[in-house]
Amino acid sequence: MARYTGPVCRLCRREGQKLFLKGERCYTAKCAVARRAYAPGQHGQGRKKVSEYGKQLRTKQFAKRYYGVLEGQFHHYFEMAEKMPGVTGENLLRLLESRLDNVIYRLGLASSRAEARQLVLHAHFTVNGRKVNIPSYLVKAGQVIAVKDSSRQLGKLKAIAEANSARPVPQWLELNREKQEAKVVGVPAREDIDLPIEETLIVELYSK
Ligand code: SF4
Repeated sequence: MARYTGPVCRLCRREGQKLFLKGERCYTAKCAVARRAYAPGQHGQGRKKVSEYGKQLRTKQFAKRYYGVLEGQFHHYFEMAEKMPGVTGENLLRLLESRLDNVIYRLGLASSRAEARQLVLHAHFTVNGRKVNIPSYLVKAGQVIAVKDSSRQLGKLKAIAEANSARPVPQWLELNREKQEAKVVGVPAREDIDLPIEETLIVELYSK
């Protein structure tokens, strides 16, 4: 399964916004965006006029990096979103939000999406009682996501859940902290998705 393995703070600096790829560090003064708020590289501090295409491209790159998916996967989600009823841009974000690794992150069971992805790959979670170790698995309304029985007592998982217990859980997920499980009670609405982008720019980019 392909994934980006380069320096992640560089991605945030390139997008000029926090992508929250490093867990706790992202909320501290050590964050690279806080310390060096300009793009990386020799010309990072130069002033640039951004074209319409540039804006569309940066928006797509931001969303792609935010959810930790590569270009091929991202385009596949776009094609799926186009075929769904409703607004394509919102459908795209809804699909990305429904990925199991994102759901684990949203529930506060991981400090970052990258960590969530690793925990899912290590088969620490079940969906409707069945082990699922596919980070891109798309959850659906009515399903129950839980920490696997044999993983419940793991100190690492407990520590992560405790450290992230203050993070708000979106309305479409109902978390039972004691049972370490959550129910998907709806589909993510646009206002539930805290992605600071104009998704229509992605639609315009791919529609060229
Ligand atoms: Fe991005 Fe987090 Fe690195 Fe800050 S610390 S630049 S938010 S990955």
